[in-house]
Amino acid sequence: MQTHKYDVVIVGAGGAGMRAALESGQRVRTAVLTKLYPTRSHTGAAQGGMCAALANVEEDNWEWHTFDTVKGGDFLVDQDAAEVMAKEAIDAVLDLEKMGLPFNRTPDGLIDQRRFGGHTRKHGEAAVRRSCYAADRTGHMILQTLYQQCIKHGVEFYNEFYVLDLLFTEVDGVRRTAGVVAYELATGEIHVFQAKAVVFATGGAGKVYKTTSNAHTLTGDGMAIAFRRGLPLEDMEFFQFHPTGLAGLGILLSEAARGEGAILRNSEGERFMERYAPTLKDLAPRDVVARAMANEVREGRGCGPDKDYVLLDLTHLEPAHIDAKLPDITEFARTYLGVEPYTEPVPVFPTAHYAMGGMPTTVDAEVLADNSQVLPGLYAAGEVACVSVHGANRLGTNSLLDINVFGRRAGLAAAAFASRAPWVELPSSPADETVAQLEGIRDRSDGERVAVIRRELQETMDANAQVFRSEATLKQALSDIQALKARYQNIAVQDKGRRFNTDLLEAVELGFLLDLAEVIVVGAMERKESRGGHFREDYQNRDDVNYMRHTMAYRTGEGVRLDFKPVVVTRYQPMERTF
Ligand SMILES: Cc1cc2nc3c(=O)[nH]c(=O)nc-3n(C[C@H](O)[C@H](O)[C@H](O)COP(=O)(O)OP(=O)(O)OC[C@H]3O[C@@H](n4cnc5c(N)ncnc54)[C@H](O)[C@@H]3O)c2cc1C
Repeated sequence: MQTHKYDVVIVGAGGAGMRAALESGQRVRTAVLTKLYPTRSHTGAAQGGMCAALANVEEDNWEWHTFDTVKGGDFLVDQDAAEVMAKEAIDAVLDLEKMGLPFNRTPDGLIDQRRFGGHTRKHGEAAVRRSCYAADRTGHMILQTLYQQCIKHGVEFYNEFYVLDLLFTEVDGVRRTAGVVAYELATGEIHVFQAKAVVFATGGAGKVYKTTSNAHTLTGDGMAIAFRRGLPLEDMEFFQFHPTGLAGLGILLSEAARGEGAILRNSEGERFMERYAPTLKDLAPRDVVARAMANEVREGRGCGPDKDYVLLDLTHLEPAHIDAKLPDITEFARTYLGVEPYTEPVPVFPTAHYAMGGMPTTVDAEVLADNSQVLPGLYAAGEVACVSVHGANRLGTNSLLDINVFGRRAGLAAAAFASRAPWVELPSSPADETVAQLEGIRDRSDGERVAVIRRELQETMDANAQVFRSEATLKQALSDIQALKARYQNIAVQDKGRRFNTDLLEAVELGFLLDLAEVIVVGAMERKESRGGHFREDYQNRDDVNYMRHTMAYRTGEGVRLDFKPVVVTRYQPMERTF
């Protein structure tokens, strides 16, 4: 076992982790631990853009952006946090521009902006051009730019290090963050990192579902590790289903396509979104569009041999425009479905995309141990966190924004904490539990297979806890998950080696997914209303009297325990949500 000592340890090298590292690394001794090589993080797959009310091409301001975020999030957004994000958005984009990010430009040389779902001017009057973008590779450009900056500033990276545990030490009866335990993929060695402050920036958990836009590695590690260590997870029942995954595959076709003018059509060729959202139509928030699509299919107006998808029509757009603005995603349609978007509409259907929930934090990215107490030295930012700026449904382009705004804040806050706080001792034998867990799996000669349990988990989540949910489907999902968790106790892997044992790590990741799936389903059962990404067929209306509150899930010996937290309302009282 090796030990290391840093003022700040950042777990994750996606946009949130690297934005944090850039701040922290210039102030105190900082290490970034990442299970992927940094530029392979999922931020690099983000396509459509990052929003900020720059008003470069149309009148706009941060207050409208805040309003859209709150309404898009179906009033579960903490409005003070949304204000911070919308205000700081402008500098967040300009900072990236100064770092050299190659944004698309207007003819005058300003950063160009395009439309995206749910972003409007004058509180819902019409769609506004707010998303800053670099073709359909915005996340790729952000990730590369931040990585270059981190290298320039000498940030230390530990690549292909899997963090598997979080360490606390009690000081005068108060839990303090002491460090993390990591597994080095190349050697199988265990490393203990002592740190005054730890930032979790481990991204999302889309692999809970089968049909998802998320990369194979998005297994919710940070969320699950915190949960196992007794910390709450907030609003996990809210999962976003992005309307336009390639049918049958889930690979994402960015909302930028609709931002550039693409139209959704059913088997009758009808632009059906006109019926569901007369003002914003195809650019209504994602929860609204995804449900409308699923509904068209249910009512028999789906396309294809099994009538199980709808069509995204770009054929009225100029090929040159498509090539300039949407080159990558149109290539996906050609490669994966054999469809030519210039001349043929593309089969699409909702795909699991984004975890609105996560580790509860303050606007300074401090992790909360309950409804109000901060856990000293622990920070979280990006998709792993729940600030909560996305409430019950995130607007497109608000995540690349979130990771930059709150990644920066996390880096600043962690560095400040590390500068003023004394060191705490590591707990004794800090890696014992991790080693026991790994050896337990490795030593079992015969048992359940990872791929089988993962597939069954994803299938039950797709069938029972997706766009439409009910008491009956959620009960089914919960009993399936509990049975799978019992089988997981007997998990075995074929690779018994130490070097590059991805088999072993996938087994550990599956354990994280099972825990998170249970939290999602238990939260969804308790929430007997429909709000944002959570739609209950048996309770189809939003119920502000009983459910305008955040869910806080804790792990106990008897399963998941739920508690609740009020929503912060500043300017906008809940209103009917029409688009
Ligand atoms: C296909 C796609 C397109 C998208 N398009 C957009 C868009 O256009 N606009 C927008 O706003 N949002 C978009 N999103 C959402 C947005 O990209 C993500 O929410 C955001 O990039 C997440 O950033 P992150 O830094 O939190 O996590 P990630 O970029 O996912 O990074 C997670 C990091 O954590 C590390 N990690 C995870 N677990 C461990 C562990 N156990 N130990 C060590 N390291 C670990 C990984 O190595 C990785 O470096 C898109 C998402 C997808 C999937």
